Amino acid sequence: MKIETHENKYVKQCLNCESEVTSMNEEHLFCTQCGFPIRNECTGTSKFNSGYGNEPLTHEEDEYPLEPTDAFCPKCSAESLFNQRGLIEVKYPRVEIINPPVSSGGEPFY
Ligand SMILES: [Zn+2]
Ligand SMILES: [Zn+2]
Repeated sequence: MKIETHENKYVKQCLNCESEVTSMNEEHLFCTQCGFPIRNECTGTSKFNSGYGNEPLTHEEDEYPLEPTDAFCPKCSAESLFNQRGLIEVKYPRVEIINPPVSSGGEPFY
């Protein structure tokens, strides 16, 4: 899949509604027609995560821009924003790895 982007990694066309993206304003990260993101980025940053509970933050940056076709962040393996919003095709969707319950082999004897 090839996605055309501007030099600043903004897509040229909204992936959701196909509106043309012309704004190069660094603060304009979302489509003005449908509200979907127009630049891919990692969702493991402090912008999306408080850092409490779940996973510690891997990024010192608040934002970590990715290529539009990246489904996962190459740095921390978090889902990309486009992946999370279902804007790109993901060949290998993340399978939650659930730790098997620790088997102690029965109650210990005392
Ligand atoms: Zn749109
Ligand atoms: Zn990341």
